[in-house]
Amino acid sequence: MADCIFCKIANKEIDSSVVYENEHVIAFQDANPVAKVHVLIVPKVHFANIYDLGKSEQKDEIMPAISEAISKVAEICETEDCFRIIVNNGEKAGQTVFHLHFHLIGGQELPLSLL
Ligand code: AMP
Ligand code: ZN
Repeated sequence: MADCIFCKIANKEIDSSVVYENEHVIAFQDANPVAKVHVLIVPKVHFANIYDLGKSEQKDEIMPAISEAISKVAEICETEDCFRIIVNNGEKAGQTVFHLHFHLIGGQELPLSLL
């Protein structure tokens, strides 16, 4: 999708600090981390949010790839036993980038107020 920053990151048109990648997903460091570990796990295909993905037939291949990426990123970042996944869906829920992304935060004790 034109002018979508996460599409450009997925297409390698914009640099990011890639942590993990598979066929359907790219995971990279959040530019403004709220915890010691803060990685964004992003489907390479554009969906505005998780609601739209859930309504799409592509969910059946993308959701397993996201699930795999979550475990791999937790291992790579050595935070398997302490992390949180957050998905903000919609502006009123705090979403600011309208390409679906899963925040993985961890690497430290996590107060409930984060994100
Ligand atoms: P959300 O508020 O849930 O939409 O989260 C958007 C996240 O994207 C924020 O945590 C930002 O810090 C992060 N972000 C925005 N632009 C970039 C970028 N170019 N590279 C890495 N992270 C980004
Ligand atoms: Zn996009």
